[in-house]
Amino acid sequence: MAISANIGNIQVTALVDLTPPARDVSMIYPDVPAEDWGPYQGFALEDGMWQTQYCAYLVRRADGDGPIVLVDAAMGPGPHEPGDVPGKLLEELSAAGVEPGEVSAVVTTHPHGDHVGWNVSYDGDTPRATFPNACYMIAKADWDHWTSDEIAPNVPAIGRSVQPLEGLGVLHLVEGEEDVAPGVKTLPANGHTPGHQVVVVESNGDTGVIIGDLFHNVAQVTETEWCPMFDWNQDMARASRRDILGKAAAGNWTVFAGHLRIGSNIGKVSGSGDSFTWQSL
Ligand SMILES: [Zn+2]
Repeated sequence: MAISANIGNIQVTALVDLTPPARDVSMIYPDVPAEDWGPYQGFALEDGMWQTQYCAYLVRRADGDGPIVLVDAAMGPGPHEPGDVPGKLLEELSAAGVEPGEVSAVVTTHPHGDHVGWNVSYDGDTPRATFPNACYMIAKADWDHWTSDEIAPNVPAIGRSVQPLEGLGVLHLVEGEEDVAPGVKTLPANGHTPGHQVVVVESNGDTGVIIGDLFHNVAQVTETEWCPMFDWNQDMARASRRDILGKAAAGNWTVFAGHLRIGSNIGKVSGSGDSFTWQSL
C-alpha cells in the first residue's frame, strides 16, 4: 500500500516492503519505564506493542519528469521470518509506475539491514545492482564505520548489501550536505549511526524531510530523550532528533517517517526545544 504527499511539485511516496510482527516495547526501549508509556497507549502503541514497518520513499516530480530517487531500500527480497514472507518493494515500485532501471539515485539514510535490503541482487553468488542506473549515496562516516574490519564480518547485511556496491562501481560516499536531484539533498543527522542522514525535499516554498531512523515511535517526537536500543550514540541521536524536529516545526516541514505505520507515517510537528507534537496528515 502506497501513500503520497506533495512538496511543491515533488511527490514523495511511501513504499511498504514488509510489516513485521509487533514487538514488546520494553525490549526496544529498555530505559523507558513501562508506566511512562501510559499517555501514549493507542497513539504510539498497538495493544501495548511496538508495531513498525519497513519502507522506502520514492521521490520524483509530480509531473513524472526528471530524476527518480529512492530513499532507503528496506528489508530486501527475503523470504523473511516468521512465515517466509517476501519483501514487496519492487512490486510497490512497479505499482507506482517505476522500473528499477529508471531510478537515478538510491540514498541510504544509514546502512542497517532494514534500509539496504534491496541494494544488491544476486544471480547465484554474483552480485548486481538492483537499480542498475542508480548512484548509491551512503555517508562516508557510515561507510568507514560499517565496513571496518572490526564490524563488517559481524554484520551480514554489510557484506551482502553494502560492500558489493564499491566493486559494482555504483557507490558514492557523501560528506555533509549534498545535492541528490533538483530540490533534493542530504542533511547529516548523526547519532542513530555514525553517518545517519536525512533527505530534505524543497519545492515552490514547501519543504519535506525523510527522516530515516531519527525516531522509531511517534512517542519520541514528544519524549525526545527516549532512545531505542538501536541508537549507536544516544546523546548524538537526541541532539539530531531535536535539531531536525525543531527545523521541521519552525519551517512547517512535512515529515516522512520510515518506521511509523502507513496512515500515520506522514505528518507535521509543532513545538520547540526538546518536546514536540505530531500531527498526521
Ligand atoms: Zn530502521
